[in-house]
Amino acid sequence: VNTIRLILGDQLNVRHRWFSETDDAIIYVLMEVRQETDYVHHHAQKILAIFAAMRDMARQLREAGHKVDYLAIDDPRNLQSIPANIDALMLQHDAVAFEYQAPDEWRLDEQLYQHGRSKPGHWLMVDSDHFYTTRNQVADIFAARKQWLMEFFYRQMRVEHQVLMESAKQPVGGQWNYDHDNRKPWRGVPAEPRDPRTSHDHSALWRTIVDAGVNSFGNPQADRLPWALNRDEALQQLDAFIDGALPHFGDFQDAMSANAWRLFHSLLSFALNVKMLNPREVVARAEAAYHAGHAPLAAVEGFIRQILGWREYVRGVYWANMPGYAEKNFFGHARPLPRWFWDGKTKMNCLSQSITQSLEQAHAHHIQRLMVIGNFALLAGLDPAEVHQWYLGIYIDAFEWVELPNTVGMSQFADGGLLATKPYVSSAAYIDRMSDYCKGCHYDKKARIGERACPFNALYWDFYQRNTATLARNPRIGMAYRQLEKMDAAAIGQFQQQARKLLQDLDSL
Ligand code: FAD
Ligand code: SF4
Repeated sequence: VNTIRLILGDQLNVRHRWFSETDDAIIYVLMEVRQETDYVHHHAQKILAIFAAMRDMARQLREAGHKVDYLAIDDPRNLQSIPANIDALMLQHDAVAFEYQAPDEWRLDEQLYQHGRSKPGHWLMVDSDHFYTTRNQVADIFAARKQWLMEFFYRQMRVEHQVLMESAKQPVGGQWNYDHDNRKPWRGVPAEPRDPRTSHDHSALWRTIVDAGVNSFGNPQADRLPWALNRDEALQQLDAFIDGALPHFGDFQDAMSANAWRLFHSLLSFALNVKMLNPREVVARAEAAYHAGHAPLAAVEGFIRQILGWREYVRGVYWANMPGYAEKNFFGHARPLPRWFWDGKTKMNCLSQSITQSLEQAHAHHIQRLMVIGNFALLAGLDPAEVHQWYLGIYIDAFEWVELPNTVGMSQFADGGLLATKPYVSSAAYIDRMSDYCKGCHYDKKARIGERACPFNALYWDFYQRNTATLARNPRIGMAYRQLEKMDAAAIGQFQQQARKLLQDLDSL
């Protein structure tokens, strides 16, 4: 009796327990399907990198002696839907049992669960052996709490997993969080380290994808695809990050520059999210760099917090709120995305830089996503569901379990503040402090009204003014409301009028 074991495109973990021994009665199945290319409008690099990495995984499994059936996008047997392919493959391989690893996206989890319910026989889901936490652990920790403070969860993780701990309950250095040290702008020194990634020529695969009729956007970079496509490459990238960038990661974590798009970020999110790397090994490497005196505590703690803290936390928020989280819309925002979200052609230099880079690289770092693009989307009242679709499509690391809470919760405050303690909005002053974007901009970062006034300024005050009833009592934003109270009616009328004008024609900004 044969068993089919399904490996999804984000389950490329060659060290999963499944592969510890070979068995001729087990057929591993990977499939490139239109169901997965088309559920959202995707960046070309995302489709290409996932397919290329799946093909590499199939190669590695075959080399290790496992039986693999790979359904390429142009395979005539391919029915382009996961359940339909499973049924056909079960027949072809005379299989009576089907096994799969727990999917991370609700969409797939539900689909496979429902399909399995209608099947007689053996249908089994196993753990993906990847995360520190179970799906429901975050919800259990926060049961009955109104606000889900990440910091509270993060400290529990540090203790539970004994990461950066002096003793059982004492953090190394006496402090849990060094975020306040991690807010320096970057003025060109130290130099941005070399790009740590391997590049690949996948032009032939790209042609196959296009010929199969798959739609996408963004630069495919098919002849030099720059993402790690297997564990060995991901480990090399991790080494290079620890050596060259981690020591400065903390200082410049929030910095942005038109001259250096990667700065000191790891670009490891793709390798982590498709599970080529395990978060434990990445955290252990960073911690070891601190103990070896190679990187300062503030940098190492800042980096570890993203993975042991934020990454696990948002996953828990996702599972606690699905289905339905994608429809949250606390402010009732409904404006469509301006068309420059798709080509980067706006006179606002910060947005032009961040979006053009996203189209070229399928990547932007956290502050570009949060404090430039997301900030504008929230100030301008863009429809959070559309904003979510855009983020889910454009970034190489975008899988719904991590993208949705970051976009709808953290960046758009559309869940009403479950995840974020305040809306992440700013005027030009913050963007100017953390970047060099304003220097090359058509708009005047200081002006609030007039043709050349930076749109962020009027929109920022208009956002607070129009949401006084819901936000004014939030202690974390009292400052903004105290400033608003000091403004006279004429000044308020002026920025409101300016905001109205801007909102009438976002395409032309
Ligand atoms: P680094 O800065 O080097 O950080 C190291 C690692 O920490 C990352 O690889 C990532 O795994 C993890 N991490 C950092 N921040 C977060 C976070 N907020 N949530 C979860 N993990 C985090 N991250 C994704 O992996 N997929 C997404 O689809 C995604 N969408 C986002 C959407 C918005 C609106 C925002 C504000 C953030 C989003 N993030 C997402 C989080 C973060 O921006 C990316 O993880 C990060 O930019 C990836 O680049 P890096 O690997 O160089 O990260
Ligand atoms: Fe962005 Fe305004 Fe600065 Fe221009 S002036 S880069 S629009 S913040």
